[in-house]
Amino acid sequence: MIRKLLVANRGEVALRILRACREMDIKTVVVHSTADTDSMPVRLADESVCIGPPPAAQSYLDARQILAAAEITGADAIHPGYGFLSENAAFARMVEEHGYVFVGPRPEHIELMGDKIAAKRTMQRLGIPVVPGSDGPVASPEEAVRLAREIGYPVLVKAVAGGGGRGMKVVRDEGELVDALEMAAREARAGFGDARLYLEKFLERPRHIEFQVLGDRHGQVVHLFERDCSIQRRHQKVVEEAPSPVLDEEVRRRMGALVVRAMAELGYVNAGTLEFLYADGAFYFIEMNTRLQVEHPVTEAITDVDIVREQIRIAAGEPLGFDQEELRIEGHAIEFRITAEDPATFLPTPGRVTHWHPPGGPGVRVDSHLYAGYTVPPYYDSLIAKLVVHDRDRASCLKRAARSLAECVVDGIPSTIPLLRTIVEDEAVHLGRVDTGWLERWMEARG
Ligand code: ADP
Repeated sequence: MIRKLLVANRGEVALRILRACREMDIKTVVVHSTADTDSMPVRLADESVCIGPPPAAQSYLDARQILAAAEITGADAIHPGYGFLSENAAFARMVEEHGYVFVGPRPEHIELMGDKIAAKRTMQRLGIPVVPGSDGPVASPEEAVRLAREIGYPVLVKAVAGGGGRGMKVVRDEGELVDALEMAAREARAGFGDARLYLEKFLERPRHIEFQVLGDRHGQVVHLFERDCSIQRRHQKVVEEAPSPVLDEEVRRRMGALVVRAMAELGYVNAGTLEFLYADGAFYFIEMNTRLQVEHPVTEAITDVDIVREQIRIAAGEPLGFDQEELRIEGHAIEFRITAEDPATFLPTPGRVTHWHPPGGPGVRVDSHLYAGYTVPPYYDSLIAKLVVHDRDRASCLKRAARSLAECVVDGIPSTIPLLRTIVEDEAVHLGRVDTGWLERWMEARG
């Protein structure tokens, strides 16, 4: 049983986890940096512990401080949220070795999927199609040249330890390859402390489609259908929806069954997401995220499953409360990531929010830690709110999205709301004809 849970995160996801705990009668502790002393999660948690100065390396990434906070508050479980330590296998192991429940997958699975080459090999062994590419890290520029010829241009240089689109470079011909390798290695070393790179076929105009899975400690695995996250900027998701407008029922069922079989064979526990690129009717696995994802609410909307509650129940050893046959897709949901960024340049716009009016009404959910008078600190991710709309079908969902984005007010700092409002009116979005490069081409065309 979990009686008191420590949230090792900040912002909207910390709030999301606190809300699940409150509904489960679980006491909460939130850790925070000095930059977040006045934050909403700190106000709403039963207890809070300041664990360090603003830089994440000295606070949200400091495993020792987090464990010390768990110790002094008597917490029995730790939820890492997303980002920060959520996919750090050593942290998950430390949490368990100190006798706390880690609300997430087994450390060995975090480790396995954190190495993107090992992840692809594993999936291939489990019968899941992967993007063609090098079977290991590239050892030298000469080997890269040879491999790229074999794969065929364009190729994508990727970081073995990758995440957040960093260390990724598209290479259209051999002349660009060596420079791209150098640049990607630099980015990967700075971002992940691991400069190893691999090559993949660069798919032209694919869609990003991912499957959400949940596995319990008793061997049951289900999938909660797919999310389509094709509206991206610099390989980062901006708008996500569920279900995908391009999958038919037969393909959905086939992919779902494949994913569930693979995860059951692996013995995967807790929440996870298998990410795929979908092009010309075929799926190619790219990576697995062994954590809660930013876009999980669209799945919650269409399945009526509270994913965070299930994560906590699973971590406490309880079996899943439903099986695959009971899960149905109800209607359509779309999420918009509202960030404290300039809508044209995407430069971060931290500062004081003077006015905040979240939209409401039927089918509208807003996950946000904002309040009027709150100052968005400059140190962390710029996500300030997630607007999630749900309706009976995609067309009405888009109407609801436009209506609620128009109601949403953030004053004091620029945000991406104006950009999201134009995206939602676009014909290509209405027709569902977008791919992962669509948003950037669209922005370029509009100047
Ligand atoms: P990260 O972990 O850095 O987010 P991913 O492997 O999840 O990287 O890829 C992020 C995005 O990059 C994808 O959604 C897609 O838009 C693009 N991408 C990744 N691999 C390929 C590929 N082989 N071909 C085309 N686009 C790709």
